[in-house]
Amino acid sequence: MSAENGVLRPPGAGRRFAVAGMGATGVGVFVALVRSLAAGGHTAGAEVHIFETKERLGAGVAYSTPHDCHLLNMRAATMSVRAEDPDHFVHWLAERNALGPAGAGEYVPRRLFAEYLQEFFDEALAEARQRGIKVVTHKSVVSDCREDALGVHLIAGLDHFVFGHVFLCLGDLPSTEYLEFTKLPTYVHSMWQGAGLEAIDPDATVGILGTSLTAVDALLQLRAAGHRGPVTCFSRRRSLPKVQGPRVRHTLRHVTEDNLRRLTGDFTRQLEFAEVAELFRRELEDGLGLAIDWKRVLARPADPVTHTLAKDVELAENGQTLWYSILDATSEIVPLVWRSMSPGARASFMTEHLSIWSMFRHCMPLDNARRLLDMATDGAFAVASELTSVTYDEEDAAFRMEAGGAAHRVEWLVNATGTGFALDCSDSSLIQNMLMRGDITPHPLGGIDVDFDTLRVVRRDGSLSERAHYIGPLTRGVHFYTNSFETNLANAHSAVAAVLTRLDSAAAA
Ligand SMILES: Cc1cc2nc3c(=O)[nH]c(=O)nc-3n(C[C@H](O)[C@H](O)[C@H](O)COP(=O)(O)OP(=O)(O)OC[C@H]3O[C@@H](n4cnc5c(N)ncnc54)[C@H](O)[C@@H]3O)c2cc1C
Repeated sequence: MSAENGVLRPPGAGRRFAVAGMGATGVGVFVALVRSLAAGGHTAGAEVHIFETKERLGAGVAYSTPHDCHLLNMRAATMSVRAEDPDHFVHWLAERNALGPAGAGEYVPRRLFAEYLQEFFDEALAEARQRGIKVVTHKSVVSDCREDALGVHLIAGLDHFVFGHVFLCLGDLPSTEYLEFTKLPTYVHSMWQGAGLEAIDPDATVGILGTSLTAVDALLQLRAAGHRGPVTCFSRRRSLPKVQGPRVRHTLRHVTEDNLRRLTGDFTRQLEFAEVAELFRRELEDGLGLAIDWKRVLARPADPVTHTLAKDVELAENGQTLWYSILDATSEIVPLVWRSMSPGARASFMTEHLSIWSMFRHCMPLDNARRLLDMATDGAFAVASELTSVTYDEEDAAFRMEAGGAAHRVEWLVNATGTGFALDCSDSSLIQNMLMRGDITPHPLGGIDVDFDTLRVVRRDGSLSERAHYIGPLTRGVHFYTNSFETNLANAHSAVAAVLTRLDSAAAA
């Protein structure tokens, strides 16, 4: 490697790759890259540089939690890192006696998935070295990425590198809501960063913003830590996630690629929201064999949380959750459905229906629901919906909330509203630098705009980068279902496949 003007540059940048961010998606990219380089005969002179700020490679944000109460919200059967071997994670768990009685249907602690990812990463690392691919890991923050005729320039710490292709897998951004409270010592902006919930006084009154799976994680962690003060979850419109029952196989009849082709005239026109809603309505009603009372299902939550939770737990225990199996069966086709929708239809879904969709689609494992029901029955937490305002009263050193016409006061406030999608609020200098130059562009529905098939980033002028790919939760505007490992892994494979096609053509030329 030569170092001219401080630029670390090898003889040819073409087979030098960078993976920035080594969470689950970064691991997916790395493994796919190593295997594809080996399979395609591109190992000679190949180098893969990995950049990660955390000590631990492979765990990322979601799976680094050490708490056993933080479960995967997907069954073990859906979390295989090997697309060709769906039972890979199930077997891995079984070999370690970590699989419960539900077998492939088990929801295991997320920390186990982190161990699994790390092992998978280590195996690929060994394979890379055995095949002569040089792998270099850098414990540093990538602060800039820019492309020119030489290749893609990455700045990490004080170093400047040039690569042929770069995969940016930076993960979730912290919430971009309630930023005005971030300097307050009794506000937890992200429970996954810093001291998180551990800083909270066990007798304090706590407000949790949101009622999604992150709020469930917060409630269960507070319980496990012996929190004694009252806790209230605040939401604008939705309630706690529904409860997952046993999954049964469902073959899609309406939400199918054939129907999408027919309705869009082979994808020559885009679908309006009502057309997509109709496909899902038919799928659910045909699958369940009954007409659904949609007004009741979509109504704002009115019953007390103990009542709703008790009912949802009972339905899941009795296997009366076929609706979940039907929604689950749509996972693979949902990105294509999303791609077939008009921009207006997507925007209307995001503003009007996303929260209710998430309540049913991202529902909680039964074990967690039972724990929450115990907590709610003990009066350990309540849910207040129709949140309209949150302010901080400096004199009282407490937060004031208005929800459903009632006033609430809490000493600590936890933001559990999930991923932020407003790039301009991101604290990542990498994102800010690329955004400022127009090397990436915000998607109109939030996050980063990329090409659907190759994950190449879209520049401000609408052109596609030749060499920079973005994969992960922030491509939600394009792929929709990016809060699932499955989708991000599939996208990691697509991005690597696109790069390999370029290498193959270059080799053939
Ligand atoms: C709390 C929580 C629970 C979840 N549970 C599930 C689940 O059960 N099942 C499921 O399928 N999905 C789940 N998800 C969705 C999950 O986000 C995705 O499945 C997937 O794990 C995302 O992985 P990632 O690698 O893209 O992001 P991350 O895990 O966020 O990893 C990104 C990595 O990039 C690093 N990084 C960021 N910026 C830089 C930089 N500039 N330089 C160097 N390194 C950088 C970070 O340190 C981090 O390690 C959950 C998400 C959350 C937040």
